Amino acid sequence: MADTVNTLPFFYGNITREEAEDYLRQANMGNGIYLLRQSRNYLGGFALSVLHSGRCYHYTIEREPNEMYAIAGGKSHRTPVDVIDYHSQEMDGLMCLLKKPCNRPKNMQPKMGPFEDLKEKLIREYVKKTWNLQGAALEQAIISQRPQLEKLISTTAHEQMPWFHGSITREDSEPRLQHGSRTNGKFLIRQRDSNGSYALCLLHERQVMHYRIDRDRTGKLSIPDGKKFDTLWQLVEHYSYKPDGLLRVLTEPCSRPDGETGRLTRHQTPPGPMDPMRRETNVSITPSLFLECDMAIYPSEAMPMDTEVYESPYADPDELRSSTVDRNHLFLEDGELGSGNFGTVIRGTYKMKKTEKQVAVKILKNDDNNQSVHEEMLREANVMQQLDNPYIVRMIGICEAENLMLVMELAELGPLNKFLQKNKQTSIKNITELVHQVSMGMKYLEEHNFVHRDLAARNVLLVTQHYAKISDFGLSKAIAEEQNYYKAKGHGKWPVKWYAPECINYFKFSSKSDVWSFGVLMWEAYSYGQKPYKGLKGNDVMQMIEGGRRMEAPGNCPPEMYDLMRTCWTYKADERPGFKVVEPRLRDYYYDIAQ
Ligand code: ATP
Repeated sequence: MADTVNTLPFFYGNITREEAEDYLRQANMGNGIYLLRQSRNYLGGFALSVLHSGRCYHYTIEREPNEMYAIAGGKSHRTPVDVIDYHSQEMDGLMCLLKKPCNRPKNMQPKMGPFEDLKEKLIREYVKKTWNLQGAALEQAIISQRPQLEKLISTTAHEQMPWFHGSITREDSEPRLQHGSRTNGKFLIRQRDSNGSYALCLLHERQVMHYRIDRDRTGKLSIPDGKKFDTLWQLVEHYSYKPDGLLRVLTEPCSRPDGETGRLTRHQTPPGPMDPMRRETNVSITPSLFLECDMAIYPSEAMPMDTEVYESPYADPDELRSSTVDRNHLFLEDGELGSGNFGTVIRGTYKMKKTEKQVAVKILKNDDNNQSVHEEMLREANVMQQLDNPYIVRMIGICEAENLMLVMELAELGPLNKFLQKNKQTSIKNITELVHQVSMGMKYLEEHNFVHRDLAARNVLLVTQHYAKISDFGLSKAIAEEQNYYKAKGHGKWPVKWYAPECINYFKFSSKSDVWSFGVLMWEAYSYGQKPYKGLKGNDVMQMIEGGRRMEAPGNCPPEMYDLMRTCWTYKADERPGFKVVEPRLRDYYYDIAQ
């Protein structure tokens, strides 16, 4: 949302209330003139400032947990702009109708908050340190989890600030403030207890004043009777420009003694009610904990990087990369994960040099051990072996023993279509997160010149509710860079409803035809696992497509996402976008609804 709002001419970014009043007065445009600015106390919220009869009124537009926007107590709307449109027709609690936007002066960009500059650096450092990632794995983690990481960072960023001294006592804080310069307004913040309460310690005329900062039931922080904030750094920013009940404004941050960091350990960090993920982080999502688990069951809010399948098991240089798995190190279990024409997929454990991995093992039926199926499976293994991406099921190795077995990473929650059929309460944001991850995996395939040829919701497997991986490379092909498509020799047992016209008409497969399939996969996802073109036969579908008709939007599908599906179903492959274009479009939309 922030990105879209940034382009509005009447959005001023992180300006203060007083600055907003100056702009409105200078514009001198009469009653009902308004501007929009970033909320300085609510994360992801906005403030609307409006002039009426010479006075300025300020309304907070809060972002609600259901991702809607509303002026406190008012009607909810999908975007802040919808809130404004509504109040240009209805006063509904406002002092006046919103009449005219007060646009930014020429050449003025929305003002960035101080946190914006820091954010990027903090996110990178956090991901690096917490999950020990680097290179492509680090970048992919940031791209796919940015909204969650931003939230995490914004609620922990204070730990990086010089003024945050962690869990020290009142007695310890005083000499720190009295040491060195005794500037009025010199301050620090210390943690009081593990329930998320803090104290602001402020130097005033050589005396240290201590203000409690309490957290209310909704997780908001405030000094007694003071303004409420989502984060400590917003609170500091506010009291740095106005005293607002304190004896004076905050001036000089009192730095921690050399070498000491304000950072708390993950277990010490107080949970914030507005931050469920962080709460989970404290109790259970420590990577080391997973290594001790028998079953790879993850907390529902785990991020992809929290699972043991985010990086290849061979990313650890101590584990020798090999395409074969030693039968003596592979233990098969009873549970069947699924089955196909070739045989069954069952759960197992693979003992590696350093760790034991939960795996899925595709076992070729013995009576089917005829040459062609055997070769097909080896071809699939050959493709998988060349791929290494967090959003693709990796092959761990092939095992030739009593049966031919393909050992893969385990994606325990199974196929996306079935998951969504059973979990109709899954939010649009969650679906978009998963579909975006699929587009990231597909972008990787496109960049590495592979065509999938069987991309469908049934072939996207879930590791967790927030982590999808592309699987089933049985039909996949590497394509020559200079040709950029694969020409099938004949028509096989094809998933026609997922195929682009050029696949059916000319047997031509490219990343562009995978994009067509991706459009169908999106349709399946937003319709909660329904079958596409229900009731139609392959031939009917082809006629429908040739006639220029396409599937209708699933109920409740965001228009932006249906629009993207339609773009994926562009008839001519040349005019259809590649994943290079599709992925950022999904990413933008996902960030918009998730931030
Ligand atoms: P066919 O092509 O013969 O129809 P298939 O290629 O669709 O079979 P797969 O998709 O590879 O077969 O696997 C069949 C089922 O096994 C999947 O739908 C899924 O439920 C389960 N499965 C496959 N791979 C994994 C995995 N890595 N982790 C967990 N479950 C898996």
